[in-house]
Amino acid sequence: QSSGSKNGKPATKAVSPVKISSPTKVIYPDRGLTKRDVADYYEAVMDHLLPEIVDRPLSVIRCPGGAGKACFFQKHHTPGLERVDLVRLKEEAGNNANYLVVRDAEGLMELVQLNGLEFHPWGSTAENPDIANRVVFDLDPGEGVPWAEVKRAARDVRDLLKQMELTSFLRATGGKGLHVVVPLNPGCEWDLVKSFAHGFADALAQSQPQRFVSVSTLKLRPKKIFVDYLRNGRGATAVASYSLRARDGAPVAMPLAWSELGALKRGDAFDLVEVPKRLRRRRKDPWAGIDNLRQDLSRWSSG
Ligand code: ATP
Ligand code: MN
Ligand code: MN
Repeated sequence: QSSGSKNGKPATKAVSPVKISSPTKVIYPDRGLTKRDVADYYEAVMDHLLPEIVDRPLSVIRCPGGAGKACFFQKHHTPGLERVDLVRLKEEAGNNANYLVVRDAEGLMELVQLNGLEFHPWGSTAENPDIANRVVFDLDPGEGVPWAEVKRAARDVRDLLKQMELTSFLRATGGKGLHVVVPLNPGCEWDLVKSFAHGFADALAQSQPQRFVSVSTLKLRPKKIFVDYLRNGRGATAVASYSLRARDGAPVAMPLAWSELGALKRGDAFDLVEVPKRLRRRRKDPWAGIDNLRQDLSRWSSG
């Protein structure tokens, strides 16, 4: 990529913008939304989405036949990707593999061109993959849990974290539940984050077993909320804020202020059409300053 100027000519990009093929292909049949609409959406939210994904190993859910059809979860870099960077990382089996890393808008749009719909970053950076800087508490309501209970659960998680002097941030997943996200700065080893998140989930489930479960095999147990701590671990991912979801209605994972929780009607309340409008009229980013907050797990790990 050229930077600066050569031979007195103005600097030009070495590569052309990403071309979106088959723009009229229908991606969300229930809404009549096309691949062009998806690409336009990602262009519109780019400045908000990029800080959530750049420089992190990234998985992408690609849906060549549209959101309702077979989709696949891609973690690894593949030949032919030109605008997406890669980082070589050790995997659990002991081998190394190339992981996707988006560095800029063109990288993101190359994945959109390849029918990428959902974007799921690691909780650490490609440069420092063993150090977690985001913890995600994924609240997964079982069958029959009223929405008000999901909201109450998120508030309780926030309040318990606050007692540990940890500020947390709220996200409507674009699906059934909510995420409560805790930035760590400085970050720490995954093992510590994992045991923190697991311990937190167990404590919730033990103190209020009628409301919470912390064991994934009981996930489908009706009327309870699974506190899914498993988003936290080296190689685990959670959906990025502003990512579309490959689900009916073209919903979006939307970061919110805690003050907005009261009025929230459901986890998939925001969609492809609404979010760009909302961003235009929004005065403040509800997650502003998240990466400048200085907080860590030292208080927890030493106590
Ligand atoms: P909801 O609110 O509906 O629960 P969610 O984003 O929290 O929405 P979950 O099903 O709770 O969805 O979480 C699934 C998580 O697992 C995703 O965040 C994703 O990062 C990860 N994931 C999804 N598919 C795969 C896969 N094939 N392999 C590994 N991880 C996956
Ligand atoms: Mn979830
Ligand atoms: Mn989950």
